[in-house]
Amino acid sequence: MAGRIPREFIQQLLSRIEIVDLIDSRVPLKKKSGANYFACCPFHDEKSASFSVSQTKQFYYCFGCGAHGNAIDFVMQYDRFSFPEAVEALAKQIGLTVPHSKNTEKSTSLQHLFAAVEKIAGFYHTQL
Ligand code: ZN
Repeated sequence: MAGRIPREFIQQLLSRIEIVDLIDSRVPLKKKSGANYFACCPFHDEKSASFSVSQTKQFYYCFGCGAHGNAIDFVMQYDRFSFPEAVEALAKQIGLTVPHSKNTEKSTSLQHLFAAVEKIAGFYHTQL
């Protein structure tokens, strides 16, 4: 992992990913009310669908547990990916190559720090 991912690329990626298709391929979306699709939330146990996906906003929100975000957040939460991993996975899906801006030491060490924090968080999660 060299350098950071340019913000413009993230925006380009999000504009080309259809969040409804992305989530539907993992969590079948059923009812449609207005511009929103609904499903049972993949992030908490429930019997009635309170997980909504907005096609117009390209955003998901769960009325039950408050999980929310865009396509990248969904992949991070659902597949337990780090941010760069989620970006790579989504880019691959639509045939884009993730560009990395020239390495700056700061962002690299920050990424290592985030990765370490995530591992610790994951560890505590499995202990619960
Ligand atoms: Zn939920």
